[in-house]
Amino acid sequence: MSAACIFCKIIKGDIPSFKLFESDKVFAFLDIQPLSKGHALVIPKYHGAKLTDIPDDHLSELLPVAKKIAQAVGATDFNILQNNGRIAHQVVDHVHFHMIPKPNETEGLGIHWPTQETDMDKLKALFEEIKAKM
Ligand code: 5GP
Ligand code: ZN
Repeated sequence: MSAACIFCKIIKGDIPSFKLFESDKVFAFLDIQPLSKGHALVIPKYHGAKLTDIPDDHLSELLPVAKKIAQAVGATDFNILQNNGRIAHQVVDHVHFHMIPKPNETEGLGIHWPTQETDMDKLKALFEEIKAKM
């Protein structure tokens, strides 16, 4: 828990939320500025800013809960989004997974997908470099 964190305050109940789910390790609620109807946030109760700050055993339930909410909302098309860092569009520094229904072209998440040029040699060199650290 972080005293200054808005999502820790939501978990504690100090800030109200429309709570959809709660367990020992996970909390889920409706986003207050939705991109589409049913836009929800699924968060670990363990406070950490980025995905890499959260122990594995506090991560394992997050996707099943996001899935459960997508089903409850009745979303057939949707995005699961988890931003890390300001430049990656993270505003709240407590890890959160967005479940954002995509009901049509205009509502929900818009994605800019700037593919880069590469080739098999470059990909292979990168692959070897990353794999050696896994
Ligand atoms: P980020 O850009 O950090 O991935 O997304 C943060 C999300 O938290 C935004 O979609 C924003 O609407 C939501 N949010 C911020 N403050 C509150 C709040 O007090 N209550 C709720 N329910 N959502 C919040
Ligand atoms: Zn927090």
